[in-house]
Amino acid sequence: MRLHLLSLVFLGGLLFGKAQENSPNIILMIGDGTGLAQITAGMYANGNKTHLESFEVIGLAKTHSSNSLVTDSAASGTAMACGVKTYNGVIGIGADNKNKASILTLSKKKGYKTGLIATSSIVHATPASFYANVVSRRQYEDIAFQMSNSDVDFFIGGGKKHFDRRKDGRNLLKEMEGWKFTTSLNAFNKSTSAKVGYFTNDDEPVRIVEGRTPELKDGISSMFNKLTEKESPFFLMVEGSQIDWGGHANDLRYIITEYKDFDDAIGKAVAFVKENPNTLLIVTADHETGGLGISSGNIKNFNPKGGFVTGGHTASMVPVFAMGVGEETFGGIYENTAIFDKMLAVLSKK
Ligand code: MG
Ligand code: ZN
Repeated sequence: MRLHLLSLVFLGGLLFGKAQENSPNIILMIGDGTGLAQITAGMYANGNKTHLESFEVIGLAKTHSSNSLVTDSAASGTAMACGVKTYNGVIGIGADNKNKASILTLSKKKGYKTGLIATSSIVHATPASFYANVVSRRQYEDIAFQMSNSDVDFFIGGGKKHFDRRKDGRNLLKEMEGWKFTTSLNAFNKSTSAKVGYFTNDDEPVRIVEGRTPELKDGISSMFNKLTEKESPFFLMVEGSQIDWGGHANDLRYIITEYKDFDDAIGKAVAFVKENPNTLLIVTADHETGGLGISSGNIKNFNPKGGFVTGGHTASMVPVFAMGVGEETFGGIYENTAIFDKMLAVLSKK
């Protein structure tokens, strides 16, 4: 009896101690090129609804890079992933020409599981900012090689050809020990490997209206299942990559349909935070694309119409939505590098 009682006390202490030490999960969702007008257009086109309405803490981030008021996705991805301003086109390297560790790598050092999902290729600038250090975002094969030696545990995205049909003749997929690669969400879900990559396309994935699979909401749900299989906390980056491409094309329909795909995934992430309160969820953008303005529309069916001032990016600040652990630090106006600092503070939280 005494022994049982002692065991209970010991077990209770162990559980209590564990709960105290449980580091928070971090989910960073980036809508590439998703400024306030893109969100507004997506919201109205979706019957005046967006899952972002469930956030109570909202801030604004300045997106300029170290050499331009108008950033590209490499410099702004690096700002959020590594906490430094750098030159446009550069990934994971500071303006001081030194390699920087990303929040993904730092979380891995703390025993986190890590995941990346993008609706572009997985070697594209935004996801690459979380695991690569290259002077040019166009070095896709170098980025793929760095992915093969990275701290990423799970990924969903396109770009298989950069791994298995390379100019150097190497097939990284055969060299990546301990990895399992799939070409369907079902196989991704079923795999029991500690590291799993799901290639959604050989090259860049198609638009959602052209039948891209998986939908981001299904991809994020599968990631949540994978990342919570073990006791350890996780870092997950989710990118709605093609909202930006709609901006470059000055195509409002493209933006709206890609935003809907992203917003559905935000809904899944919000539900995850409600069920797992020891989580920080951030939704933001790397920059605005197109200089979109909504200049007319139908109030009866909320059909937005508008125009663009450029085929490139703009310097507008972007909104930052935060929910969960550390959310209170995300109000106000700050540099995009502060998003890294705020995540790091949560990562260091006990
Ligand atoms: Mg991107
Ligand atoms: Zn862009």
